[in-house]
Amino acid sequence: MFKNPKKSIGSSVLCVFALLLLTLLTPSIVSAESVDKLQPFDMEQVNITDTYLANAFNKEISYLQSIDPNRLLVGYRQTAGLSTSYSKYGGWENTPLKGHTLGHYMSALAQAYKNTKSNATVNADMKKRIDLIISELQQCQNKRGDGYIYAETPEQFNVVEGKATGTLWAPWYTMHKIMSGLISIYELEGNPTALTVASKLGDWIYNRVNAWDSATQAKVLGVEYGGMNDCLIELYKLTGKSNHLAAAKKFEEPSLLNTIASGNNVLAGKHANTTIPKFIGAINRYRTLGTSEASYLTAAQQFWNMVIRDHTYVTGGNSQWEAFRAAGKLDQYRDEVNNETCNSYNMLKLTRELFQVTGDVKYADFYERSFINEILASQNPETGMTTYFKPMGTGYFKVFSKPFDNFWCCTGTGMENFTKLNDSIYFNNGSDLYVNMYISSTLNWSEKGLSLTQKADVPLSDTVTFTIDSAPSSEVKIKFRSPYWVAADKKVTVKVNGSSVNASVVNGYLDVSRVWKVGDKLELTIPAEVQISRCTDNQNVAAFTYGPVVLCAGLGNESMTTSSVGWNVTTATKTVTVKDTININSTTSASLDDWLGNISKYLVQTPGKLEFTFKETDSDNNLVFAPYYKKYTGRYGIYFTLKGSFTGSRNPFDRIEAESYNTQSGIQGVTCDEGTSAIGYIENGDYAVYNNMDFDSGAVGFVARASSAEKAGKIEIRLDSITGPLVGTCQISSTGGWQTFSDSKCSVSGISGKHNVYLKFTGESGYLFNLNWFKFIKEEVPSVLIGDLNGDNAVDATDLAMMKMYLLGIINDFPVQNDIEAGDLNKDGVIDALDFVVFKKYLLGSIEKLPYTN
Ligand SMILES: [Zn+2]
Repeated sequence: MFKNPKKSIGSSVLCVFALLLLTLLTPSIVSAESVDKLQPFDMEQVNITDTYLANAFNKEISYLQSIDPNRLLVGYRQTAGLSTSYSKYGGWENTPLKGHTLGHYMSALAQAYKNTKSNATVNADMKKRIDLIISELQQCQNKRGDGYIYAETPEQFNVVEGKATGTLWAPWYTMHKIMSGLISIYELEGNPTALTVASKLGDWIYNRVNAWDSATQAKVLGVEYGGMNDCLIELYKLTGKSNHLAAAKKFEEPSLLNTIASGNNVLAGKHANTTIPKFIGAINRYRTLGTSEASYLTAAQQFWNMVIRDHTYVTGGNSQWEAFRAAGKLDQYRDEVNNETCNSYNMLKLTRELFQVTGDVKYADFYERSFINEILASQNPETGMTTYFKPMGTGYFKVFSKPFDNFWCCTGTGMENFTKLNDSIYFNNGSDLYVNMYISSTLNWSEKGLSLTQKADVPLSDTVTFTIDSAPSSEVKIKFRSPYWVAADKKVTVKVNGSSVNASVVNGYLDVSRVWKVGDKLELTIPAEVQISRCTDNQNVAAFTYGPVVLCAGLGNESMTTSSVGWNVTTATKTVTVKDTININSTTSASLDDWLGNISKYLVQTPGKLEFTFKETDSDNNLVFAPYYKKYTGRYGIYFTLKGSFTGSRNPFDRIEAESYNTQSGIQGVTCDEGTSAIGYIENGDYAVYNNMDFDSGAVGFVARASSAEKAGKIEIRLDSITGPLVGTCQISSTGGWQTFSDSKCSVSGISGKHNVYLKFTGESGYLFNLNWFKFIKEEVPSVLIGDLNGDNAVDATDLAMMKMYLLGIINDFPVQNDIEAGDLNKDGVIDALDFVVFKKYLLGSIEKLPYTN
């Protein structure tokens, strides 16, 4: 067991001096080979010129300047036994959770310091505030002498450990914010004392957690503890002290990480903002210690997939009353307390790190979505104040923090969010430039000698221009993200100095490579369209997007009263009746299917404006949709319930997006899939019914588009009832991954003149795949050779052995597509022991032909 040697004052000063020297020479003394594929730019290198974002930043700076740091320090001084003439703030700063705001404030000031270099007065003010806080905290730390700094006595930590009685708060949550603030200041502003204080605090933490037995550890980790593992790893990167790394490990929950890494979604009911940072710590451990820690990367990736797939609203936010709810149950939990802003802050932190490690465009796609529709959406652009919750329930409104009376967790993360708006627009891999977001800005890649100006107003304008302001003499590849929201059947195109350039999209990026010249002008066209996102636990509930922007409709300003709950948390009320149902006009040719399938015809843009109105509904004249992130007054609706009826029989050859499901087990969980029209979160045992089909034309095949398939599954096509005649089996093979689509085809027979079709979904237990659409087709689907279970075009003993394994439960599926057709040798709709008997007889020659029906 590691023990801290006792040091004399002299040697401790020497140690600090040596440490500082070392830190100055090598910013990171951890030598594991970097696993990052991409690096962000220093915030000083990226300057935002977009007016909406520039205002957002300036409002945040004014807020930071309106806060007196001395008042945030009151608890710290009192705990250290130092006097103070200041009074503490109200809200959460007047509860035992006090002190957390100072942590956020330090991180925000550090970022603001980086981003105000062009304004000497403001920049000096940021520095003055930082230096005051650090000097005060050092005084507090020196007064006590044990490394501890906090705005409350250590009694809080005793309560969490079960060593004292009292109200249980979340001291480790606050401790994380303090440690992160100190580290941010050291990393971004460079105050060396910040690291000295952080290192000593890290030693105090180590001494505390090293004394935990496993029961105490379990008890402590049952209480919200923020990103303690993350910030201690970050500290270790700077100090290289093994006790800091050991302390980080104490805040890990291996059983949770392993369960999530195995793909088992156990998030239902868990506190979201407690859980997300655990995986930020996991990815940081992988990034710090390297490939030996690959299991942490898997856990972080799986967690991200689960949250996005099963728990995320169209805006990119998650949670209801701060918790993850049952997988896919999104419509069910839409109300006034969804989408805690801290969760989105933390999901974006996780997303950004996963992007740096993998370079996978899906992370950049999500970042854009959530950055706009969660982060930007969380601020009142007039006052700079930010939200706690963002209601997904139709008819509520945003409630913003008061400047000095709330100090919620989300007030703190808000300070951080709006002082780093420029940190994820551009990335690089040392040689290529990645453009991830389309936001007016300038980039100065000084290491490369490349600088440019981006001008964008996406999605009002589909054209984004880049002007080269300086360039090296060698070729540079610029990789432009091709967003997930590009209009169907269209693509991103590019012109350089007015001439079209042939560039294709590779792994989500459009590459343009050349020797750039000063004044070169590159023009990107990114076509957007209205798209629809449906809650798959209620297919009739839909939200609308245009490009990356989620749309909402204003629902008036009547009786905008709030209610106060819990710890001084204010929420919106809905005491008025709002219209949240849209009736699709069935007297016209527009059926609900047609309306949904051609939404850009029915939600129409007002020319020149980001404003949209319905056609063919009962709300054509009273709902106006506009970007949600800009909506900060009045009630709104993002999701609406659509109602309509079908006129005449359905054409089975049209693509059909399911409008409702009947289920045996109840469809558990559905995701409003990001950027797609995903229509069904399919679990084993679910089924769908389609009545009134007109099969007169005689379909011979069936095709289904599935996405996010993690396990193989089947769609059985049956007539008249769920146990009716089986007329086709469509095998959905595992695709894995978010937004990975695949079309599966199978042949169908004997459906001419029939009208009612059942789709029965089977596979392993639990979640199988998302079904995006299906249709019947007239083309021949290559027929399966009956008995050829491994798909090698021969029926032989290998296939018999495979069937035996299947019947014994050793394998769950056959390699061949349409395995029910291949394996059901007596055509009774199932693969069972009777088929095995038939197979044996066939191989022995006593049956001449398959299938054998007698
Ligand atoms: Zn919060």
